[in-house]
Amino acid sequence: MSVSNNKVVHIHYKLTNDKGEVLDTSEGRAPLAYIQGKGNIIPGLEKALEGKEKGDDLTVTIPPEEAYGVHDERLIQVLPRSSFQGVEEIKPGMQFQATIEGHPQILTVTKVEGDEITVDANHPLAGESLTFDVTVTDIRDATEDELAHGHVHGPEGHSH
Ligand code: ZN
Repeated sequence: MSVSNNKVVHIHYKLTNDKGEVLDTSEGRAPLAYIQGKGNIIPGLEKALEGKEKGDDLTVTIPPEEAYGVHDERLIQVLPRSSFQGVEEIKPGMQFQATIEGHPQILTVTKVEGDEITVDANHPLAGESLTFDVTVTDIRDATEDELAHGHVHGPEGHSH
């Protein structure tokens, strides 16, 4: 069986950025389980895994366009301090969850000047080329429920 649409794929992975810093890894955890073709993982990684088999290792560098997007200046906004009610001290680097056009977004504070708070709604990894070292540890057919929901069920995924 090889990786193709509607298969549940288990992978161990290590994610590094351009500078060689490790941003995330499944080492010491259960492998990541996702459904191929459902957008569970970034498009570039899904594309690189297509056709791979259990036991295959690959290293792939994915440009921002196929990862978390290019950095979009329009997603940077200046908000008045009064938008942050209940937050005692606002500092650069703080992250807040907000709903923008119906989608949950993480806003990162990038600058604080008096009552003007600059926030950036780009994904923290926007604009970055990402390198994944991946091992495919298992492949199986997705169940009908999993396909209907668009995500993996069971111990390796959502339990409901
Ligand atoms: Zn579900």
